[in-house]
Amino acid sequence: MLQEQEAHAAEMERTFIAIKPDGVQRGLISEIISRFERKGYKLVAVKIVIPSKDFAQKHYHDLSERPFFNGLCEFLSSGPVLAMVWEGEGVIKYGRKLIGATDPQKSEPGTIRGDLAVVVGRYKHHSTEVMALRQRRMRLNCGSNQRKLVNYTSNAEKWVYGVN
Ligand code: GDP
Repeated sequence: MLQEQEAHAAEMERTFIAIKPDGVQRGLISEIISRFERKGYKLVAVKIVIPSKDFAQKHYHDLSERPFFNGLCEFLSSGPVLAMVWEGEGVIKYGRKLIGATDPQKSEPGTIRGDLAVVVGRYKHHSTEVMALRQRRMRLNCGSNQRKLVNYTSNAEKWVYGVN
């Protein structure tokens, strides 16, 4: 039985999800958290931060060649961001489903972006602010102690746990 539990725990997934400044400013934190909770996922870490521009650039380094990169990084560091780690079976893939497609025009009704956003977000001066989230996929062995959490290598995780 114990072995079974351990095996199950070892398969448990976690994913990083952030609510960007527009979502926080629009008062959508509880709405978004409740969608994940109602599905059955567990919020295992949460932190509110205002990332520096430098931090934002590292976080989005994979998009550095894209034309919207600068605006995106400026936007991310323009205000409070809610950084979260969610846990649960299939949360990596299903979390994406809950969020919806990156472009809110293409995201289905019933998803966070489909229901709450209109355009792809970038700059803080846009009057139609956008629901923007960031998901980082990761699978890790979380069957043992809390210390494992701080061994995450991704910047995103360090964010939540306050480790540099
Ligand atoms: P996400 O995981 O759905 O947020 O998508 P990505 O990680 O690919 O992109 C990160 C963020 O970059 C998105 O949330 C948008 O704010 C922004 N972004 C992505 N694609 C575009 C685009 O084609 N145009 C603009 N303006 N912004 C984009």
